[in-house]
Amino acid sequence: MSLLRVSNLSMSFGGVKAVDDVSFDVKPGELLALIGPNGAGKSTCFNIVNGQLRPTHGSVMLDGHELVGMRPRDIWRRGVGRTFQVAATFNSMTVLENVQIALVSREKRLYGLWKPAASHFEDEALALLEQVGMTAHAQRACSVLAYGDVKRVEMAIALANRPKLLLMDEPTAGMAPQERTELMALTKRLSAERNIGVLFTEHSMDVVFSTADRIIVLARGKLIAQGDAETIRNDANVQAVYFGTGKTFQPRAALSHDGGEPHTEPRT
Ligand code: ADP
Ligand code: MG
Repeated sequence: MSLLRVSNLSMSFGGVKAVDDVSFDVKPGELLALIGPNGAGKSTCFNIVNGQLRPTHGSVMLDGHELVGMRPRDIWRRGVGRTFQVAATFNSMTVLENVQIALVSREKRLYGLWKPAASHFEDEALALLEQVGMTAHAQRACSVLAYGDVKRVEMAIALANRPKLLLMDEPTAGMAPQERTELMALTKRLSAERNIGVLFTEHSMDVVFSTADRIIVLARGKLIAQGDAETIRNDANVQAVYFGTGKTFQPRAALSHDGGEPHTEPRT
């Protein structure tokens, strides 16, 4: 049974078909990579699933419930988490306080008007920080953290809501290769332990091929390929879109590691 089922999704901006009849699903505990050249429609897909955009056509079912038409907040309540939802107050609080606030927010979601005190959740917050490897940083202000550590705190905050599905649109943008690999390895471990489905985009093919359970490829709004790393690596359409027809698939050489866009414009 699918956790997320996206069916015949289309989104037009004026004359541009950003997403064109795309269907895919995500199973519980599965890491699904959504890849494709710049402008392929990846972020549009994410923003439809999280409720920020309403599609022109199509359906997004989470556990059998239609999400299209729901507000982002209600979609979050249903268990769809994101890792870049950092609050404006994030930097002024410690690592531990940020996770405690996220836990308070979850309790409010579950139990309505009851307003629990943040201090109640210290143990649970510390347990979450332990899971993301940030125990030693618990009392530090978030403003002084290294970039990769901020991402780990974001992960703990996302987990505080006990998501069924995590949406990660370029979670490793701006990270060094080593940090990218580590963050996605952490994501993979947590997703397996907690049976969370993860939909993510990532520019480094090394990271995609080593972490994703399955990969779907978008190009100009259309889903052009899906399968495991081996299938995608050998797919003629994917090779054509990424590197021009007839070229070998060479992710290391062809993709930048600086968080910028890869050289993915189709050659004509
Ligand atoms: P990706 O995340 O794969 O780089 P996007 O989903 O951001 O791609 O964009 C897909 C296409 O939709 C692009 O042509 C982009 O210019 C267009 N687009 C995205 N968002 C908007 C918007 N809010 N208004 C108009 N066009 C948009
Ligand atoms: Mg994008």
